Amino acid sequence: MSVFQKANKNETVDLQKNFTDYSKELDRASEDNNIRTAISRAVKAYRETTASTMERYPHTPDLAAEVREIKRNAIEHREELLNQAMESVERNHGKAFYAKDKDTALMIASEIIGKGKIIVKGKSMLGEELHLREYLENEGNEVWETDLGEFILQLKKERPMHILSPAIHVPREKVAEVFSRFFEREIEPDIAKEVEAVREFMREKYFNADVGISGANVVAADTGAFVIIENEGNVRLSTSAAQAHIVFVGIEKVVPTFQDAMKVAEVTWRYAQYPVPAYVSIVTGPSKTGDIEKVTTYGAHGPKEFYVIFVDNGRSAMAEEDDFKQALHCLRCGGCMYECPVFQVTAGTFGETYLGGIGTIWDVFVAGGLEKTSPMIYTCLRCGRCVERCGMQINVPAMIGELRNRLTSGQVMD
Ligand code: SF4
Repeated sequence: MSVFQKANKNETVDLQKNFTDYSKELDRASEDNNIRTAISRAVKAYRETTASTMERYPHTPDLAAEVREIKRNAIEHREELLNQAMESVERNHGKAFYAKDKDTALMIASEIIGKGKIIVKGKSMLGEELHLREYLENEGNEVWETDLGEFILQLKKERPMHILSPAIHVPREKVAEVFSRFFEREIEPDIAKEVEAVREFMREKYFNADVGISGANVVAADTGAFVIIENEGNVRLSTSAAQAHIVFVGIEKVVPTFQDAMKVAEVTWRYAQYPVPAYVSIVTGPSKTGDIEKVTTYGAHGPKEFYVIFVDNGRSAMAEEDDFKQALHCLRCGGCMYECPVFQVTAGTFGETYLGGIGTIWDVFVAGGLEKTSPMIYTCLRCGRCVERCGMQINVPAMIGELRNRLTSGQVMD
């Protein structure tokens, strides 16, 4: 049996088992009719919407070029920008924390939240990276995923199959089965009725929640502004009604100015196929009022407490590698996945925490290390279709090639 002993940890990775289990999963996914039906519907819709969106907003590629430079510069100056962002949060009456790894991030969350709380949570890939919901549940809290796709997966006990559309592989017929079981009444396989059932259920949760958790798409260091893009309105409700709002955000999301953040936000939603999203929230701290005698008082209608946990967890290591730091420019628009020929057959089975070719690079640094991610490293076809689609022009095939070099030369990356 082939076992790769990690140089600086006692943990062993059984590569042969890793590859065998993974290829069985890929085979299963490629034969799954639910995945085939759902992905072909999604890819068709994605291509049509993207084409018409780009036609209507022809300045987008030029704006993407500006954003590439903003991100490159921000990664180069990440330490000073992080410090500036943390100072801005504190100045705005929030509390800022830096977590160098997953365990620290979870420990900070646990100290803020405690036990026995009701928590409503927006979609966040960083949350997946930290296994945040599972951790908080094990701590004795009631946690609800409020994004529709994430809620479906919470009920199915599955992981996301796409970074923007986590339940992309679950067609309406399957959703109806899952909801009928959970709500203990028949829900028809009619998308509008399925959405309505969750809307009714979730409203009471929003207003009884103690804590709302969100991610952020981009952070402006100068103002401490957290920009959150969404369509469902669940993030607004999750982060507005509870006593406390906690933001979990990767340190790579910080850019210098508010204007930069707006450019990043527009490029993100445009490449994510939205002409314009239904909601763009800008949050800078706890709610406040000065309506009585001009005395600023915190905790008006929205949260009284605002916390931000900036998470590193391998991102600095990625930034220090010239071969891989470009992966930190990823906006998580999800576009590359729709064009990936492997993803089109297997959905997010091609991935672990993060998905597809770009997800493979991320998983090496933040979620598993080189050996554990090796099956994904050899799944990528290096066809380059993702680079064509990517507004950040991230050269995933080149990075995958470098990871293969390191694997075959026995280098260890933790
Ligand atoms: S690699 Fe590019 S296309 Fe893929 S999710 Fe990131 S920014 Fe979007």
